Amino acid sequence: MAELLKGLEVTKAMKEEMSVEVEKLNSMGITPTLGIIRVGTRPDDLSYEKGAIKRCESVGVKVKVFELAEDISQAELENKIKEINNDKLINGILLFRPLPDHLNEERVKFLVSPEKDIDCMNPINIAKVFAGDESGFAPCTPEAVIEILDHYNIPIQGKNVVIIGRSMIVGKPLSMLLLKRNATVTICHTKTKNITDITKNAEILIVAAGKAKLVTKDYISPGAVVIDVGINVDENGNLCGDVDFSSAEEVAGKITPVPGGVGTVTTSVLVKHIIKAAKLNNLL
Ligand code: NAD
Repeated sequence: MAELLKGLEVTKAMKEEMSVEVEKLNSMGITPTLGIIRVGTRPDDLSYEKGAIKRCESVGVKVKVFELAEDISQAELENKIKEINNDKLINGILLFRPLPDHLNEERVKFLVSPEKDIDCMNPINIAKVFAGDESGFAPCTPEAVIEILDHYNIPIQGKNVVIIGRSMIVGKPLSMLLLKRNATVTICHTKTKNITDITKNAEILIVAAGKAKLVTKDYISPGAVVIDVGINVDENGNLCGDVDFSSAEEVAGKITPVPGGVGTVTTSVLVKHIIKAAKLNNLL
């Protein structure tokens, strides 16, 4: 039976570290503050917002929500972003996407100041991830995977790591973070041939395909670490990952559950980024 890599254990440890960091900043008169920009009232956004506020407040990070009208014009939205960029009391900016259809997201993503871009929206921060430059902000989900591996002392250097999925949100940036840590990385995708031959070579297998229960024990070499990034709803309406957990746990050495794995850690990474931004903004 595989060892369970629980996201909650990771978030607990991160919370302790972050609370200390926030106290240090408070003693210098700095209160790390997140600015959430929400256009309209999409239920998904509201539910994510609620979770993010709770996680921020648990470590002493303040949140200010800028709720904008559903029918806001492009110019008004851009002006608002510029205003928040210049607001010294806001350290990190989280803009909920997708934006309503009449707004041009491509233009907007360049506007969020790279020093406040805690959700890695601005191409400058994405470029930094690909350049191995750690001064910016990586996308939260790939970084959550690294946090889990590090928390459980799973070595990355020199390991054969296989990622299923090549999206710009997860697979590609994650491959760069792992390369930076000296892993040997292979990316598989929908056009990969004989995929199980490749995944069976993985000492660490990371799945971000967006296909419920795609990965069974036939993909996994005995004892491998399996990290499931997927979030799907199964035929019974329950949350499940991209890994068929009951099959995979028969052969994996360690495995993350869904829910309670990568997703749980992703929000903590966002909070960590706000603290990093507060330091950057104050030249610390
Ligand atoms: P995406 O659809 O943008 O990309 C999926 C990738 O997987 C593609 O590159 C595709 O080539 C590959 N793929 C799909 N089916 C495959 C197959 N059968 N074999 C091999 N490769 C295949 O998805 P995404 O945005 O990267 O998200 C992936 C999953 O991660 C989704 O389930 C999503 O809900 C989840 N997700 C979780 C978090 C989190 O915080 N845990 C964050 C973002 C996304």
